[in-house]
Amino acid sequence: MKIIDKIYVDGRFTAPHGTATQDLYNPSTGEKIGIVHLGDQIDTDQAIEAAKKAFVTFSKSTVKERGEILQRLHDAILANEEELNKAAVEEYGSPISATKGRTRYAAQIFRDTKAAMESFEFEKQLEYATIVNEPLGIIAAITPWNADYTHICGKLAPAIAAGCTIVIKPSELSALQTQILTECFDQAGVPKGVINIVNGTGPVVGTVLTAHPDIAVVTFTGSTQIGRVIGSKAAETMKRVTLELGGKSPNIILEDADLQKAIPLALAIGFSNSGQACHAGTRILVPESKLEEIKSLIIENMKNIRIGDLWNSESYIGPMVSQKQYDTVQRYIQSGWDQGAEILVGGPGHPEGLGGFYAKPTVFVNVTPEMIIAKEEIFGPVLCVITYKTEEEAITIANDTIYGLSAYISSGDTEKAKQIARQIISGRVLINTAVNRESQSPFGGFKQSGIGRTSWAYGIDEYVEPKVIAV
Ligand code: NDP
Repeated sequence: MKIIDKIYVDGRFTAPHGTATQDLYNPSTGEKIGIVHLGDQIDTDQAIEAAKKAFVTFSKSTVKERGEILQRLHDAILANEEELNKAAVEEYGSPISATKGRTRYAAQIFRDTKAAMESFEFEKQLEYATIVNEPLGIIAAITPWNADYTHICGKLAPAIAAGCTIVIKPSELSALQTQILTECFDQAGVPKGVINIVNGTGPVVGTVLTAHPDIAVVTFTGSTQIGRVIGSKAAETMKRVTLELGGKSPNIILEDADLQKAIPLALAIGFSNSGQACHAGTRILVPESKLEEIKSLIIENMKNIRIGDLWNSESYIGPMVSQKQYDTVQRYIQSGWDQGAEILVGGPGHPEGLGGFYAKPTVFVNVTPEMIIAKEEIFGPVLCVITYKTEEEAITIANDTIYGLSAYISSGDTEKAKQIARQIISGRVLINTAVNRESQSPFGGFKQSGIGRTSWAYGIDEYVEPKVIAV
């Protein structure tokens, strides 16, 4: 049993003033594996105070000094890679191959941000004025459980680059993972008070951070529902907000796509991170004329998707993070069934031989755009196949959503796919691929998928404010 009974404030691991605790579970088995002690308002206020004190000096640090810190943070993560991977497999239920990729990516964020910072225009001299991009102040970062390391590092790295200090409220469901990550940050020799981490609930720690007058920016990843609460609360003190919210991403398989490639790719995109991914391509739009062929290919390709056995590098799908998330997925499967969609593979309950919080990877066909499963973010391994008659109709269905985070197109004609991509309302559109290899890209959403962008210089931009000094 692991006990997480410290928070990280002013460069020290310290016992929280808060007395509440929360149990931690292994989602593969449902067994209790730990307890986390939760911080309260006093802990959060102390963390903000430490960040405020540190900002006085850190905001005046040089690009060279901050570059060295970013490099050390990168190195510390790689030095603890195995421990980080182990915690993510045990606590989050992420298969090892995906886990390794995410841990490496968390380290890479610091390197990429260092490069972006080195070419960032912190000052611009005009004929009569100097424009100075000043660090905004204290950042509050509120993160979810579905990729603990990448979300925390993705919010921390640009804060360091900009010269800001930070208070992080991670998800309690990731407490074991966050503990090891915090030890990495501690080993990296960051000036005290620059990074503060307070375990605690959203309604307690999250609410204090969102309302506190000394917080300049709230950067949040999570549900659109909580994003709305944070956005409106933050507006009372005119905080800047960066909101990376939900998605219901379309994946358009065009008539000319090579289905032998497009279908396995669509399943990989849809079941990415066991379906617990904001960018998962969960609405698969297919030409009506090819439906029967596509159904056969889905059934055939599902046999190659390995579920469970998380330490096997071939495994692709793990359990849901919690009983609550498992129950949510079951409710959506029931809703699809009730509204008349047909279960092609999967269905309710656990996969054979697996317990814990494992849900069956499920693909629905005969789905219409009005159904709840086609509209709402399920955040589990449940995909909808929707047919279209013309490309125009495919684009209309793709855009018929409150979200706009990611979209995918499979086509034999890249130029045509690019033309269609320009008509999709989405923060990114990936063509014939699941991965954007361009590290200099921004990440974020249109519509109710959020406000602002993370990654590369776009992330630094969110944490600075231009000041004009004119003579
Ligand atoms: P939430 O959006 O509820 O939580 C995300 C983070 O916000 C957590 O750290 C949470 O803390 C915190 N939070 C909750 N309430 C508040 C508040 N009032 N003020 C400030 N912070 C708050 O996500 P859930 O974990 O509950 O998941 C629910 C659904 O959200 C999923 O099913 C999925 O649809 C979506 N989601 C989307 C993600 C994405 O990447 N876009 C990531 C995770 C979830 P606490 O843990 O204490 O609630």
